[in-house]
Parts: sequence; C-alpha cells; structure tokens
Amino acid sequence: MNRCLFFALFRLVMMSPDFALIYSHAFSHYSYGDAHPFKVDRYRLTFELMEHCGLVGREGTRLVEAPPAAREALERFHRSDYLATLERFSRDGGTYADFRYGLGDVENPVFKGLYDWVCLMCGSTIEAVRQVMEEGCRAAFSMAGGLHHGFAARASGFCYLNDVVVALQPLLAQGKRIVYVDIDAHHGDGVQQAFYATDQVLTISIHEYGKDFYPYSGSVQEVGVDAGYGYAVNVPLVAHSDDLIYQQAFKRLILPLIEAYQPDLLITQMGADAMRTDPLTRLECTTAMMEYAGRCFLETGLPWVAVGGGGYERLNVARAWTLLWATMIGAEVPDALPATFTPTLRELGSQTRWLRDPPHLALPDDFARAQQSLDKTLSFLERRLFPLYRIGGAASSHGVTA
Ligand SMILES: [Zn+2]
Repeated sequence: MNRCLFFALFRLVMMSPDFALIYSHAFSHYSYGDAHPFKVDRYRLTFELMEHCGLVGREGTRLVEAPPAAREALERFHRSDYLATLERFSRDGGTYADFRYGLGDVENPVFKGLYDWVCLMCGSTIEAVRQVMEEGCRAAFSMAGGLHHGFAARASGFCYLNDVVVALQPLLAQGKRIVYVDIDAHHGDGVQQAFYATDQVLTISIHEYGKDFYPYSGSVQEVGVDAGYGYAVNVPLVAHSDDLIYQQAFKRLILPLIEAYQPDLLITQMGADAMRTDPLTRLECTTAMMEYAGRCFLETGLPWVAVGGGGYERLNVARAWTLLWATMIGAEVPDALPATFTPTLRELGSQTRWLRDPPHLALPDDFARAQQSLDKTLSFLERRLFPLYRIGGAASSHGVTA
C-alpha cells in the first residue's frame, strides 16, 4: 500500500465515529395486540428518552437507519418453509395459525406486516455487527435485536426470527470466534441451541430458572455437546436474585470466561426484564445492573455489539437502555429524568421521576437463598469449565468429562 493511501485510511479510521446506534421509527409501527405484554412502542420511548438526555447525535457517535434483512440472509439460519409461511400469514391481517411453526397462538400472534417487522429487527442486528466488524466502530447497539427465543423453524416467546444467530452466520463462515452473553431474565434458548455443538461460539446465559418459568431450560447441566462441550454456559438464578448476585456472577465466572476465550467479537443480549418492577419475572435488579454489565462489556476492550431483548414495563426498558447507551459512549447523565420528558410520563400515567432506580437489595432471607444457589452453581461451573479454559492454573483436560 502506498504511503499516502495508508495515512488517508488511518485518518479515516481515526475520524470515524466510534459508536453506532441502529434505529428506525418503523420499529414501533406494528402491534402484537393491546392485551399482549410485548409493547413495540418501547423502542420509540427509548429513542425519545435518549434524545431528551442529549445522547443522540453526539460527537463520536453515529445514528444508522436499520435496513431490512434480505431473505437470503435469513435463510442462512431459518428454514425456507417457515419463512414462506411467516410471510404468507403477514400479508393481509387475516386470522392464521400453524402451531407446528409456533405461529398464531396467544404468545406469538400473527399480524399484518409481521414479516416486514421481523426483517427489520434482524436487519438492525446485521447492521450493528457490520458497523463494528467493517466500519471501524468500537461498539454498536441494536435495541430491536435480542429475539433470543427464535428457532430455525419455530416462533417462541414473542420471537419469530433469531437476529443474533442470523447476523453471526457470515462471521462464522470466515472462521471468527464469538462470545454471546445474555442477561435477559429468560434463558437464551434459541441462541444456545443454534450453537450447542460448536466451539466457535461461547454462549453464556444468566437468567431466572424454575420448573414454572419460561422457557423451562437453561439448567447448569446444559454445557454443550460434541465440539461444543464446555461452550454453552448457564447461570440459573432463583427468584429474588438482585444486583449483587449478578455482579458476583460477572466477576467470578462471566468475565474470566470472556477473557480466556479471546473472541473476535462480543455480542450481548441486554433484555431489561430482570428489573424488580418487570411484571413477568421475579428477579430484583435495578438499572445499576444494566450500567454495571455495560461497563464490564466495554472494559473488555473487545469489539462489542449490544442487542435489546425482553422488558415488559416500557419505562423500565427506556430507562435501562438509555443508561446502557450512555455507558457505551461514555456520557454522563443525571439521576433524574429530564424535565422535557414530563409530557411523555404523563401520557404513560407514570409517577417515576428518576432515570436511575434507587439502590435496592433483596430481603435478607431471599438474598441468602439466592447466594447459596449462586455459590452452588458457580462452584459446579468452575470445577467443570475452568480447567478447559485454563483459568486458575488448572490443567487443560483433566476433570472435564462429558
Ligand atoms: Zn426475557
């Protein structure tokens, strides 16, 4: 390469914004129905709150319109008969169902424009990965992504396509290694299953777990199969686990594993339903957990893509993801919501005045149970996995058996 071209490219890289926010107003143009817990206007609210906090259009950031994913991109993971059915059911707003594909029930309703909407969700995450891997961004946030319950030919848990699995396919074809961390309150079952037999993606999910808690998977025993043995990691939590429990799991397990694996890309699912005020879950986290997780991921120094996920109290979602984006780009924000956001709060009927939650700890008995459960989980995983990753000076192969 000649010297002038080298310096031109160098300057371009140095001048290019470091952080990308992928967004489209169309994210909120559809509806699962008034009675459904998944409210798509959470994306509009989040973006508006980011704007009111002065976090959109800042120097060093870029706002990128989410493009729809192309059919061939989806077909790298999803089955074509499933995609064709999804597209057909979405055309005219008629009443359709095919339970083999998980489509048309109360959980995963079919509505007009559904196919276009899910293509946009997937396209958003594909673009976030592209911004980081090809456009020199340090990190990117695809708030519409994180649809982690999507399977190759089945909708589940309000997820029709799996944006993360789709977006990672080209990187995997290039031989890249990925770490996926999922902090949503629910187990990241769709992503785990897609990569359960490969060592090219390390999946780590921390979530509430129990016989009565969707999706009923994600036990500590699920560690991958064949070449993927040791590359699926689950940290199941009991109800009432709080910020302190998450912080310990990060320090003792999640961060050492990321460091040991040395991926080319870190992709994290940032579902906001572990919050104590979420109506569908029983965890007791606050917005401090979202900021803590964001700081941890940023400080790994790895190329980082964050995607959204669950969250069924809209203002929780908006506050959590606004704080995440502020953490990602290194912006200071006050504890209180901006005064200019008051009309929106009134519209929502919300009394909340705070961007950050007040500190909260679980009750002592609940915390003791959560701590005991976490200690048991972590000691099992440390025994099983740390030798494989050569963490703590353990030998590489002894003690790791399927
Ligand atoms: Zn969830």
